[in-house]
Amino acid sequence: MTDTWQKITAAIRELKDTSDYDREAELEDVKDSLLEERNREIEEATPRPQCCEIGKTYQAVFPALPVAAVPDPDLTPMWFTLAGGMRTRVPVAFCPFCGAKLPGFRKKADPPPHLRRVEFPEDRDETHCHTCGRGWCCCYCDPPWNAWEIDE
Ligand SMILES: [Zn+2]
Ligand SMILES: [Zn+2]
Repeated sequence: MTDTWQKITAAIRELKDTSDYDREAELEDVKDSLLEERNREIEEATPRPQCCEIGKTYQAVFPALPVAAVPDPDLTPMWFTLAGGMRTRVPVAFCPFCGAKLPGFRKKADPPPHLRRVEFPEDRDETHCHTCGRGWCCCYCDPPWNAWEIDE
């Protein structure tokens, strides 16, 4: 079965190759709606705290890796929230809404098949995701923490 990730990869490949203007416009639309679908899938696969309704749904507490860490699905994620006019990510150990201790993480038995993998050489700007070949800032793979689920 072809999944959304594979469909996007095929659309991008065909976009690169086509010189037909109408086909190009059509493929851009297809790609955009597939990317929307992909964002939904990524969101569904993202671990969330389950302590309270607002923690579950508001997404102000989210899993991520420390900024300096290489995007690697084998690294255990941490919980973060946004502060300083929502621009700064700060690690949190407790839910900012209900005060509950945030859960730990365990590797999913069945992680998403297309996880972002990056190795940082000296020049980060030249770095690409090894899974899809796109710039790692804007790739459509699952972020590495989607390989994890909450461990209650
Ligand atoms: Zn909570
Ligand atoms: Zn990727």
